[in-house]
Amino acid sequence: MIQILSAVTADGEIIIPAQHPRTYLDELKTNNTFTCIQCTDQVILKNGLIKIPHFAHTRNTSCTQTFSEGESEDHLRGKLQLYEFLQKYSSTVQLEAYLPSLHQRPDLYVQSDPYPIAIEFQCSQISVPAIQQRTAGYITQQITPIWILRTPAISDFPLQEIGTMQLSAFRQQFLCTTPLGKIILTYCPQSKYFHYISNPMHIKSNSYIVKVKRLAMDKQSWPFAIIKKNSWEEFQKYLNIYKQHRFKQLDILYFLNRKGIQSPFLRICYRWRLDPKKVPFFIGIPTKQASVFSIHAVEWQIQFIDYLHKLGLSIQQADSRHCESFLFDRPISAEPSAEQIKAVEAYLCLLQGCLISPGKFIYTSNINYSLMMRLLYGEFLAN
Ligand SMILES: [Zn+2]
Repeated sequence: MIQILSAVTADGEIIIPAQHPRTYLDELKTNNTFTCIQCTDQVILKNGLIKIPHFAHTRNTSCTQTFSEGESEDHLRGKLQLYEFLQKYSSTVQLEAYLPSLHQRPDLYVQSDPYPIAIEFQCSQISVPAIQQRTAGYITQQITPIWILRTPAISDFPLQEIGTMQLSAFRQQFLCTTPLGKIILTYCPQSKYFHYISNPMHIKSNSYIVKVKRLAMDKQSWPFAIIKKNSWEEFQKYLNIYKQHRFKQLDILYFLNRKGIQSPFLRICYRWRLDPKKVPFFIGIPTKQASVFSIHAVEWQIQFIDYLHKLGLSIQQADSRHCESFLFDRPISAEPSAEQIKAVEAYLCLLQGCLISPGKFIYTSNINYSLMMRLLYGEFLAN
């Protein structure tokens, strides 16, 4: 049954029971009836000892559809804490405001310039289309949505500030673009800490290298604090982790081969008469758009180099037409997307920018690695 933090009394007064002492609520309950602001159904004040004081609908109502979520204790608690936090900064924050034009009820709604802001605190897994639909709804009404994810379990976080983390399709829905890179903002109502999961660098499938910073609620500001720019030293940490995973990936591919599973990657290495562990680093680099491929960059980038090699082209001779025909020629994804073509183009462009001289074979090309690292750092900081 849908639970809410606010309701109206018969006198038309909005009550948020969690902001009142329990003795007051006991008294209030005996002399009043309460209705839901939106569906106007009668709701029951629940002021037991365990749960945060709230209202519950007596029967299933259309209200169920208007919240993205409304069941868990964590959700009610987090919503209330965020509401009380915002009350300190803005008199125009509304809890569980109903937006009739959208038939949506964001957890918090803040009147602000130039656009109002809808804040959604998400504790449970909802479908990716449901999130997209709600976001699209807000945008059509010129409302800026801010999605805050319930902080994942600590065991899901990297051990160090910079490390690997799984970002599922669900978690990726919470990525938002800031001037200093992409972030997922999370909040935990138990610890009262925000976590900023920022600047994801793709390894393969849902595996990313991220930076995680935490910020106590009482240190948070409004508008929410933004992340600091990643330093060159921090980028080096990302790269070191990336290199370890690249090496691990080469190991996996080698191991699969011994098991009789031939990967296109190894077939190319054999053809090139090259030890898989000695594939030059410019094959398998962390380009910005690499996450459009599920496989590790070393696997699609080697195929691209091999494709150019077969056509007898040097890095300088290749152009965007080859990037596109490559994706149709090699079975990397079922149907090449515009993003994938762009990702290959960006890779080629980077190689062309760092080429010192072509080698006897395309894979023995001489690359300016210090320039490549600087260019990758620039890409990494861009959003
Ligand atoms: Zn209702």
